[in-house]
Amino acid sequence: MAEQHDLMELAKRRGFFFGSNGAYGGTAGFYTFGPEGASLKHNVESAWRDRFTVRLGNDEIEAPTIMPEAVFEASGHLDGFDDMLVECAECGESHRADHLIEDAVEDIEDAEALGVDRVEELIREHDLACPTCGAALAGEPVEDFNLMFETSIGPGSGQTGYMRPETAQGIFVEFPRLKEYARGQLPFGVTQIGPAYRNEISPRRGIIRVREFTQAELEQFIDPEEDEPPLGEVDDVGVRLYPASEQHADDGGYVDTTIGEAVAEGIIGSPWVAYYLGVAQEWYERVGVDMDRFRFRQHLGGERAHYAADCWDAESEIDGNWIEIAGFAYRGDYDLSKHGEYSGDRFTIFKRYDEPVTVEKAVVDPDMSALGPEFGGAAADVAEALQDLAEDDPDAFDSDEVTVDVDGESYTVDTEVANFSIEEQTESGEHITPHVVEPSFGVGRTVYTLLEHAYREDEVDGEERSYLSLAPEMAPTDVAVFPLVTNDDELVGVAEDVAGSLRKAGLSVSYDDSGSIGRRYRRQDEVGTPFCVTVDKDGLEGDGGPTVTLRERDSAAQIRLPVDDVAAELAALLAGDREFEGLSQRYDDVDTDVTTA
Ligand code: ATP
Repeated sequence: MAEQHDLMELAKRRGFFFGSNGAYGGTAGFYTFGPEGASLKHNVESAWRDRFTVRLGNDEIEAPTIMPEAVFEASGHLDGFDDMLVECAECGESHRADHLIEDAVEDIEDAEALGVDRVEELIREHDLACPTCGAALAGEPVEDFNLMFETSIGPGSGQTGYMRPETAQGIFVEFPRLKEYARGQLPFGVTQIGPAYRNEISPRRGIIRVREFTQAELEQFIDPEEDEPPLGEVDDVGVRLYPASEQHADDGGYVDTTIGEAVAEGIIGSPWVAYYLGVAQEWYERVGVDMDRFRFRQHLGGERAHYAADCWDAESEIDGNWIEIAGFAYRGDYDLSKHGEYSGDRFTIFKRYDEPVTVEKAVVDPDMSALGPEFGGAAADVAEALQDLAEDDPDAFDSDEVTVDVDGESYTVDTEVANFSIEEQTESGEHITPHVVEPSFGVGRTVYTLLEHAYREDEVDGEERSYLSLAPEMAPTDVAVFPLVTNDDELVGVAEDVAGSLRKAGLSVSYDDSGSIGRRYRRQDEVGTPFCVTVDKDGLEGDGGPTVTLRERDSAAQIRLPVDDVAAELAALLAGDREFEGLSQRYDDVDTDVTTA
């Protein structure tokens, strides 16, 4: 396991990521992905898109990152998207009050659920100190701090806008149009990969908690009464679950089971959530997460977001701590109902019945020539109130008179004037508000997990090295090509040709001719390049055409093969169709002592 320090140092030195705006003293919570990191992040996004958009048959959209205030009034973020803040009076540093409690008090794992007053008390009871300067925090107020970045849209005082705190809202607000692209048919899914912004109180641990980060989210819209996930696809997928009940129990532990069994036993309540846990388990394995350092943890009651009915997190173990890398929430109809209510637009789907149904409907047809003279300007409102009453309480029309309230005033009407009847109506369907199941992935935290889980140290030819055992699909570079020496035109020419033909074959190639060959191998090892091709003099001297050496990163083993075979063998190796070990039966092994070259 990598010491976090080593990994952060490697990340910076090798260009994976580093704190932004260093020239201006740095800005806490903002990171730049360097050339290697941007490439790795891109590969994670491509693999996610492949699995959660393309292979699931979903649509992807790209929405703006700034949205008007009305969106977040409706979504609940303006009111409820808060973290607990405590500020040190001595040094002025702000801290997440709930995190201070969790770090200091052994059996509290979820202080957020306790509420502001209790957290304030706990700070006093445990006499907690400011982690920055050591001053006592007892007595300092704990406040709810809204995490959204506010901005203004347009010049002057403008319209208040916010940087979106999750990509999801960009999908929800466009539901009235998106449902048309889905031809009004449930279920359908819409994905989005893009930045989200949260003004985190104390950003920390590199890219794990930052103020701008990339999310990959899927909003699966379903008819809760009819739509079922294709659970059969993931029935047998093994998962390590940490249900809420186990987290509460003194001797609680993991439940190692399969998705199929977890649903059958009710451990995972929603089959849709279970389905996505299964898909995610296989996806994390594919991209190279160490599945012994991975679990799904169910949210505890008070921890759930304001919208979520059941929620599980994917968590990876990093440096001895478990961090959330994705959340899987059953959001019910919360989002679409809210946007429907606040915007007045239609956030529903028309669900056609198999057969039209005849329904009985209570209706009134008030005699306006009687209501008008009697109630004047209120007559129309009284007529509307009578219709409402007919729908809510048809029995009221059994009496000779009915009474309705309009703006706090009572109006009594002869039942005959109301003209009440029960009509038969034919309905071909109904408008329903779909439910939403949401897998929400943090791309940066996935990148960090892959780096941490791939980090290895060992010794090759008597020298210590560190390397990243990244899955080939994730590695920033597929293959590096080296000319052993630079003062031999023929040799350099062959090396350049090899690099050119590999690029033409669609591989990402790094060409490196600087420093000793040993240093070049170490450089590629440290950025996780799975294969290196070296062109040396020996390879140009044989009779059967030029040969080169091919070295595999993790084993540091090398074979010699004809130049003409390189592209095809590499393609097979990178696709996972061939094992490097198997190649040594067909090609010659090479002495791996390269450090003196
Ligand atoms: P946390 O409890 O760690 O603040 P959260 O529960 O608020 O996270 P969600 O709202 O579920 O996170 O967001 C979905 C995903 O987005 C998370 O699983 C995580 O991977 C990522 N994410 C959330 N906040 C951050 C952040 N500040 N920096 C980096 N990634 C983040």
